[in-house]
Amino acid sequence: DGDDDCPPDVEALGRASWTLLHSITAAYPTRPSPSLQAETRAFLGAFARLYPCWSCGDDFGRWMRAEGGANAPRVASRDEFGRWMCEAHNAVNGKLGKERFDCERWEERWRTGWGDGRCD
Ligand code: FAD
Repeated sequence: DGDDDCPPDVEALGRASWTLLHSITAAYPTRPSPSLQAETRAFLGAFARLYPCWSCGDDFGRWMRAEGGANAPRVASRDEFGRWMCEAHNAVNGKLGKERFDCERWEERWRTGWGDGRCD
């Protein structure tokens, strides 16, 4: 655990995966084409099916389909997608008893860096 040359456990895999997922939202266009939006939805479905912690991926897929579609990926703009990913991550945080993240701050954490310059 903690060794960069050992197979990842569920925690290391999760941290790496959230870094990728939030970074994808941070680099997402402000006005994505309809075809990119469709590809993004398809990616998230495939991601849930392929995620190499099966119970995690199953739960993530179920969460996306739950609430009569209210949790379905929102991919019509960077802002919408970034917030949706933050909510998805908060759903996992809640399941694991971790603190909720303030989704007003997703962009500072994953795109711009914090206002105090510590990420420059
Ligand atoms: P992580 O939760 O990995 O977060 C990394 C960093 O992201 C945090 O330090 C914080 O700066 C930031 N962050 C935290 N919350 C948010 C948010 N809501 N929005 C934006 N940024 C945020 N583990 C299990 O044990 N069981 C599961 O069922 C499970 N399901 C998972 C499903 C998916 C799709 C993924 C990607 C991971 C899953 N994990 C699961 C792993 C789990 O979510 C954590 O990654 C792991 O427990 C390590 O947690 P951590 O406390 O280091 O921070």
